[in-house]
Amino acid sequence: MLSCGNCGLSVTAEKKVKHQKNGNVHEYIYYRCTKKRKDFRCLEPAITQNKLANQLASLLADYAMPTAWASKLETMLAKDEQKASEASKDFIANAEARIASLQSKLQRLLDGYLDQDIDQQTYRAKQAKLMSEKKSLEEKVSKLTLASNSWIEPMRNWISFASSISKIAISCEPVAMKQALLQIEGLNLFLSNKKARLKPRAFSYSPQKNHWSALRAALFSAAARPSEKLKSPILVPREGFEPPT
Ligand SMILES: [Zn+2]
Repeated sequence: MLSCGNCGLSVTAEKKVKHQKNGNVHEYIYYRCTKKRKDFRCLEPAITQNKLANQLASLLADYAMPTAWASKLETMLAKDEQKASEASKDFIANAEARIASLQSKLQRLLDGYLDQDIDQQTYRAKQAKLMSEKKSLEEKVSKLTLASNSWIEPMRNWISFASSISKIAISCEPVAMKQALLQIEGLNLFLSNKKARLKPRAFSYSPQKNHWSALRAALFSAAARPSEKLKSPILVPREGFEPPT
């Protein structure tokens, strides 16, 4: 899960047993560089599991969404969900009425053709036109049915996960912390001078930064202005000429 900041190889765990003269036995787990590079003598020092776990917990805490923010976001999400489903409901109802009317036109057209009121060429041309409009409407309806709520569940899961991070950090439980860091940063961690650090993200031109970086930045700026604690910049952008960050 970690790479060595000094030589770039993986960091591995090692168990050490200490026998004291009084008969007590102590077990320690260290994390250290594998030091397998032949062309480089890596001097990165080892770190104990406890120290590493505490550092990971503090890295995680930078992404812990406060419950007040989470409940505010959940309320906003529920409103958006309702709006989206109302908007798509109207569109779908109109489209379905239009599809039914196209279907009955097609039927009348077929009847006219069978009664030999219209010739084959006219029948085929009109049928193709009606069919194509019907098909495109049907496609729109099925896309909208799928898409209108497709972002709601992932967003809801994200809020719930982000607000559970502080509990994970407090528990200091290695497996839970590893899984959380994997979801947040893809385990882009390295060990340097006995400190677990995050690899800087690749530079991006996109103004839509990763949602985790946005949350982290929001937490930092909220901490810098405690009086505005509940006005998270991820909820409400600040006014001004600059684009919201
Ligand atoms: Zn190394």
